[in-house]
Amino acid sequence: MKINTAEFIISNSEVSKCPKDPLPEYAFIGRSNVGKSSLINMLTNHKNLAKTSSKPGKTQLINHFKINSNWFLVDLPGYGYAKVSKRTKEIFQKFITDYFEKREQLVCAFVLIDIRLEAQKIDLEFINYLGVTEVPFCIVFTKADKIGKTKIDSHISAYKKQVLANGWEEMPQHFVTSSTEALGKESILTFIDDINQQ
Ligand code: GDP
Repeated sequence: MKINTAEFIISNSEVSKCPKDPLPEYAFIGRSNVGKSSLINMLTNHKNLAKTSSKPGKTQLINHFKINSNWFLVDLPGYGYAKVSKRTKEIFQKFITDYFEKREQLVCAFVLIDIRLEAQKIDLEFINYLGVTEVPFCIVFTKADKIGKTKIDSHISAYKKQVLANGWEEMPQHFVTSSTEALGKESILTFIDDINQQ
């Protein structure tokens, strides 16, 4: 899929205020600093559609971007940043869970995971939550350039082991990406395009 237009529509913290358009929607979420803004900018050919920031926990809203006038890309707040106060974290969780439980337009969530790290408890809990809530999701491994091509498979195998140990019968569909090398861009956009064509 070629991205011709990527337009910011609205930021808010209430699912009831999200756009009413009945367009298919794809949400991006992950721990703060996982590379979500960089990935969104890479996918949409924008230098600064999503704000890339060295300050984790900065994007704290549900951000809707309309792509090619026919689908929404949703940038969700990063989770699990220790320096955000507990109260703020609770608010994140409520509006994130509201989003996943109520947003009918949501087609698939992309859960971003830093390929360098062992499976983190919060990510495993989050994908379990998506499973229980029956939200379709894929895993997106980020920053693949940081480990080098030869180590990608072994990192994914190690991650898979932890996912299976966490109760999953198989490894969810996944993509390997690097925003600095535009790796994984075509695979993700083709995946979205294929669903949108159905
Ligand atoms: P966010 O908090 O999840 O939105 O993460 P950002 O996109 O702001 O990225 C966090 C940091 O990781 C920034 O310093 C980025 O430049 C860096 N980063 C993000 N993606 C990549 C990547 O694919 N490769 C490399 N080498 N660095 C990345």
